[in-house]
Amino acid sequence: MIAESGPIPLAHYMALCLGDAEFGYYTQHEPIGAAGDFVTAPEISQMFGELIGLWCAVTWRQLGAPAPVNLVELGPGRGTLMKDALRAIEAEPEFSAALTPHLVETGSRLRETQQQALAGTGAIWHNDLTTLPPGPLLLLANEFFDALPAQQYEKCADGWCERQVTYSDDAFQAVLAEAPSALDRAGEVGDVFELAPARTSYMADVAARLNTQGGAALIIDYGHVESANGDTLQAVRAHQAQSIYAEPGLADLTSHVDFEALCEAAVGVQAHGPVTQASFLCRLGIEARAAALQRSATPEQAADIGSALQRLLNPQQMGQLFKVMAFSPLGSPPPAGFERLEKAS
Ligand code: SAH
Repeated sequence: MIAESGPIPLAHYMALCLGDAEFGYYTQHEPIGAAGDFVTAPEISQMFGELIGLWCAVTWRQLGAPAPVNLVELGPGRGTLMKDALRAIEAEPEFSAALTPHLVETGSRLRETQQQALAGTGAIWHNDLTTLPPGPLLLLANEFFDALPAQQYEKCADGWCERQVTYSDDAFQAVLAEAPSALDRAGEVGDVFELAPARTSYMADVAARLNTQGGAALIIDYGHVESANGDTLQAVRAHQAQSIYAEPGLADLTSHVDFEALCEAAVGVQAHGPVTQASFLCRLGIEARAAALQRSATPEQAADIGSALQRLLNPQQMGQLFKVMAFSPLGSPPPAGFERLEKAS
């Protein structure tokens, strides 16, 4: 494409690296887990999915226990979060009976893994939100938005330029082009600012659905509470960072989620948070759950549970960088985990 028609916008490069039907990272690889390229919270401990399942059950009660109800997950990875959530939800049989799981997944390899993990649950798969049946929904997205393409702009002497990708000297590399529309933003020469239209439009679709159908959405991801300049695009392969141009299609490409931009896109719904992952999980009782699991564990298992808890909560690990937000129709009370909490910084 570059040889035929010239450099492509960075967001387009990222979309192809991740989603190309033949060579895309999420279409071809099993990225998640110790043997893959990165590890996510549901893969660290069953406690994560269990607590989120219980969050759904409590939120469903707050909504007036609608039946039927759609339990939707965006980008479910290996299906672990949904599997652990459904097991915990069995403690609330009325909710269990009222719900149908819906998985929104574009990667064919990961879909197969999810189908194995969720066999017998009645789950239904979708490519996007448009085929979901009508009705109230509880929607979950863990590390989904960071994987949708982002565009970068760089401040030059005469204004913001768009970062594009070209191919020369046997390598992909960055090149600057005139930005298609003026960016009204302060910055020093060399500063980078990221915009992710694919994320904001997905968020707007989720908000529109909450508005018309009722329900709540829970979004967990790494990123910043307020829009800020900075280059956060990163490539990771086998748990090691590498250049985003080194191995297109073979490395995971993500960038930090701008939660302020997500909030702005969530038109007509109430935003709760963001709060840090650590305070959210503690509010939901993760420490009590860990202690209960440790009581019936061998000393070795108990130590593993303790270190998983640390990975999820420690501010140097996932506790602080990861943020949690909920969205619900205007006027709804704050869901569990968001009551009287200070905003994360
Ligand atoms: N939530 C999982 C996986 C996170 S990785 C976990 O926490 O382990 C990102 C996930 O989003 C993968 O399942 C990937 O295939 C999926 N994905 C990426 N882009 C997508 C899109 N546009 N639509 C649906 N799923 C997508």
